[in-house]
Amino acid sequence: MLFATFSSLHGVFHSTAFVVARNLAIFLAVVFWLALAYWVHKDARRRIDDPWLVGLATLLGLLPPYIGPLVYLLFRPAETLEDIRSRRAELRALEQHLGRARPSCPVCSTAVESDYLVCPVCTTQLRKACTTCDAALEPLWQMCPYCTAPIEPSALDLDAALTAEARALSHEPAAETDVPISQREPRVAEI
Ligand SMILES: [Zn+2]
Ligand SMILES: [Zn+2]
Repeated sequence: MLFATFSSLHGVFHSTAFVVARNLAIFLAVVFWLALAYWVHKDARRRIDDPWLVGLATLLGLLPPYIGPLVYLLFRPAETLEDIRSRRAELRALEQHLGRARPSCPVCSTAVESDYLVCPVCTTQLRKACTTCDAALEPLWQMCPYCTAPIEPSALDLDAALTAEARALSHEPAAETDVPISQREPRVAEI
């Protein structure tokens, strides 16, 4: 009885079907092992810039089999290189936007507020005060937007105002002005 069972078991282990199934299992295990290593290589290339480190990660994907990819998963960089690049581009765009939004003196490039009448550093006149409500008016404005008072044509001609505007936008240091700083007469806002 025992011998019969043993011989039938022996027969199962040596049957063609068992050998085929075993070979198939080994084949699948090898394919899965190589596929995992390939995935680690691909993922490492997306996340790591250094080719040596990518090679090291691929080696870890191969050895030890199946455990190496798990270890790689635990220690791989959280962000892909693409993520880092797009984040940097966004930051750069934001910085440029902020740099444009902040007004600066067209002569000395000092950061100024939008309601300054003169540059506090080089005393260049930036805006005129409205004669009615004392609001700071841009050189190009024809009417006070706060009290609707018409603005009398200033001594500053349109060309000069446009040039100053263009300079402020391009952040270019201005050329020498005709009037020396000490002779300029800034208009001071009445408080
Ligand atoms: Zn200035
Ligand atoms: Zn006004």
